[in-house]
Amino acid sequence: MPDTIAIVGAGHTAVQAIDSLRREGFDGRLVVIGDEPGLPYQRPPLSKKFLSGELPLERLSLKPAGFYETHRVELRLGQAVESISLERRALSIAGGEVLAYDRLLLTTGSVPRHLTVPGHELEGIHYLRSTADVDRIRAGLQPGARVVIVGGGYIGLEVASTCRQLGHSVDVLEMTDRVMNRVVAPEISAFFAAEHVRAGVRIHVGTLVSAFAPREDAPQRVGRVETMEGTSYPADVVIVGVGVLPNVTLAAAAGLACENGIAVDEHTRTSDPHVWAAGDCTNHPSPRYHRRVRLESVDNAFEQAKTASINMLGGSIIHDRVPWFWSDQYDLKLLIVGLNFDYDRVVVRGAPDTRSFSCCYLRGTELLALDCVNNTKDYMAAKKLIADRAHCDPDRLADPAVALRDTVTG
Ligand SMILES: Cc1cc2nc3c(=O)[nH]c(=O)nc-3n(C[C@H](O)[C@H](O)[C@H](O)COP(=O)(O)OP(=O)(O)OC[C@H]3O[C@@H](n4cnc5c(N)ncnc54)[C@H](O)[C@@H]3O)c2cc1C
Repeated sequence: MPDTIAIVGAGHTAVQAIDSLRREGFDGRLVVIGDEPGLPYQRPPLSKKFLSGELPLERLSLKPAGFYETHRVELRLGQAVESISLERRALSIAGGEVLAYDRLLLTTGSVPRHLTVPGHELEGIHYLRSTADVDRIRAGLQPGARVVIVGGGYIGLEVASTCRQLGHSVDVLEMTDRVMNRVVAPEISAFFAAEHVRAGVRIHVGTLVSAFAPREDAPQRVGRVETMEGTSYPADVVIVGVGVLPNVTLAAAAGLACENGIAVDEHTRTSDPHVWAAGDCTNHPSPRYHRRVRLESVDNAFEQAKTASINMLGGSIIHDRVPWFWSDQYDLKLLIVGLNFDYDRVVVRGAPDTRSFSCCYLRGTELLALDCVNNTKDYMAAKKLIADRAHCDPDRLADPAVALRDTVTG
């Protein structure tokens, strides 16, 4: 059993690791260092109920303060780890402290991808990753504000839904030919685009931002968003959601192998035998999908943290879960289970205009993944079928009256 375990980063992954390490019997010193000031908090509400003001800051915490006491955690908040010496097995914390560890878990998360087009430094252009970002955005959301959202992915659309429900004017600029292009089938994209339009959001696909222009009366602030197509959108607030990059700064500087994330093996161990990594910052091999993947989800944060914790204490379990993800927009819950790599067919179950339906991704007859809208029943059933690598009858799948499990052929 190691004497000291240090965790860098204090987000979803770190909190799950604290719980798992103590549950698995780790009795030694546990130090968690995070550079954000407050207690570790949930990020998903940042684009949803926290942005709208429905959920207060106190309710965002992942665990109450007492959790860290009962789990005997030295929680160092508002402190950044500046470097790692793999040789000496020590961390340098801002301010000069050096902390020795026996095992290290990196949970440094991800950072928003930034736009660097002309005018990108103007005030009023925001990214969304932290409570501090939400505070800045909300300060600009005066009644009737014109909000331009760059990026029609999950974050962009969730923000669009929240801002629209707050009564703001909303334009979404999406570079590709459909929203959520990277993750869902065209049927799901079309459904969500129509729901946004119905709510009064203007969605502009095939639109590439070329510059941000200042306001005439306040030249330090953004006033318009210009596009390559020659259109100009007036904006009081711009929110950019064009994807995230894994935060590998610390790991790469220490000499750990990184490639589109901190490279870990199936046990979530990095290229150094004393260092593990989990959550958004990692790139891991997926035995199930026969490739390396980088996932940005709470589920992945929790599951990798569990695997890493067990293995840091001497276990040898393999991380091979069926991933899942959710997104909330208006009164719609999108649930995605499995990864739809290499699918050759999508079967739609139910009619989108009922606002409750599913898209099943098949390769041959194997069910690879399922996206569903307001249909938790299909999500629950699919989770098991995908884990079992079930094959389904496409014709029966297309009939929503047939339970998903009754479509299985082998
Ligand atoms: C607006 C928004 C909405 C989302 N919605 C959903 C959703 O609906 N469903 C879903 O599944 N997922 C959602 N996600 C994604 C989900 O929040 C992430 O997958 C999850 O937070 C990953 O957890 P993590 O612990 O790996 O990283 P993070 O939560 O990013 O935590 C990493 C922490 O490490 C800190 N850190 C980094 N470097 C250092 C250092 N050198 N020293 C000290 N601290 C450091 C960071 O500041 C950060 O606090 C959303 C994310 C955002 C931003």
